[in-house]
Amino acid sequence: MAHRIGGPNLYGQLIKGVEVMSDNHLSRRRFLRNLAVAAPASGLMMVGSASAQELPKLALTDPLAVGLQYVEDATTSSAPNYKAGQECDNCLQIQGNEGDAFRPCAIVPGKSVSAKGWCSVWVAKP
Ligand code: SF4
Repeated sequence: MAHRIGGPNLYGQLIKGVEVMSDNHLSRRRFLRNLAVAAPASGLMMVGSASAQELPKLALTDPLAVGLQYVEDATTSSAPNYKAGQECDNCLQIQGNEGDAFRPCAIVPGKSVSAKGWCSVWVAKP
């Protein structure tokens, strides 16, 4: 006899889920194989065609942004290591085109950062 935990159908749902996973085993394998082929190809397409304007902006709530103490306006930073004049535009890690409001950053893959922004790993361009 099955023990019912959390509701009358939980055990049945678990069994059904296992059966569905078993039925879909081949299609899941096919999906994962196709994903393995498609992901690198799409990555290459991104490198070839994405401009900074097409990249989504790094959200201030993004864990990476929070960890880096990233701000879109450097002058608003309250980080102890921020110094006036530092901004993404004059950081070693900035990429993309000079003059763009948002540009790619080497340490923020797949997102763009504000040219007037700042984060705690700012390093001066040589
Ligand atoms: S590493 Fe540099 S360019 Fe990237 S977010 Fe930080 S300050 Fe801006």
